[in-house]
Amino acid sequence: MQNPLVLIVEDEPQISEIINEYFHREGFRTIVAADGDIALTHFRMMRPDIVILDINLPKRDGSEVLNEIRKISEAPVIMATALGDDLEKISALKIGADDYVVKPFNPLELVARAKAVLRRLNNNSETQKIIRIGDIEIDTDAHLVNALKFENNITSKTRIDVTLTEFRILVYLGRHPKKVFSRFQILDTCLPSDGDALERTVDSHVSKLRKKLEAHDLNNYLECVRGIGYRFFSNED
Ligand code: CA
Repeated sequence: MQNPLVLIVEDEPQISEIINEYFHREGFRTIVAADGDIALTHFRMMRPDIVILDINLPKRDGSEVLNEIRKISEAPVIMATALGDDLEKISALKIGADDYVVKPFNPLELVARAKAVLRRLNNNSETQKIIRIGDIEIDTDAHLVNALKFENNITSKTRIDVTLTEFRILVYLGRHPKKVFSRFQILDTCLPSDGDALERTVDSHVSKLRKKLEAHDLNNYLECVRGIGYRFFSNED
């Protein structure tokens, strides 16, 4: 496999140079962008494996860049925030980002986190056969969804009947818990043969799915993130 490509989005040349150097040293290929517009152009053309994204940027800030990236890709993004940054903005970013670091950060730690994120992606998500989120278990081999109940030291499983589309949505979101997916991404991946489907079709599938989960006391697992889409997570995490 080719060395992973990292897109470093940072407008302060001193910082981007240092980050660039550390990633290089650790065997990454790198591209650097000094503002949000260039970042998106590079992203679309180069399709990096991972993005290091500063929040405060000229032209488009980090949140806009992240939103645009999420419309077309699930590539991991690590946000770089500064202590003085607007908290609201930071928490919005955390929703779509895979990890974040606070400036001033140790570049070695940033590289270590990038490696960890990539490792997680490669090892687990796409090949994992059993996905477990809170009390929901998805068996991708057997094509089954189970509600788990832990009582008297025994875990029991109850099958939840879902349609093929609902199953696909669960697996797609469940492979990246907490991550927000746009309706378009969900449509594109989970209803590939339904070319005429509208984004609100996703809402209807998710709402049916929610009801099926709720019938098994599995509440609040599918969260609607306003203006973006959906994510799958467990309150216990
Ligand atoms: Ca900056």
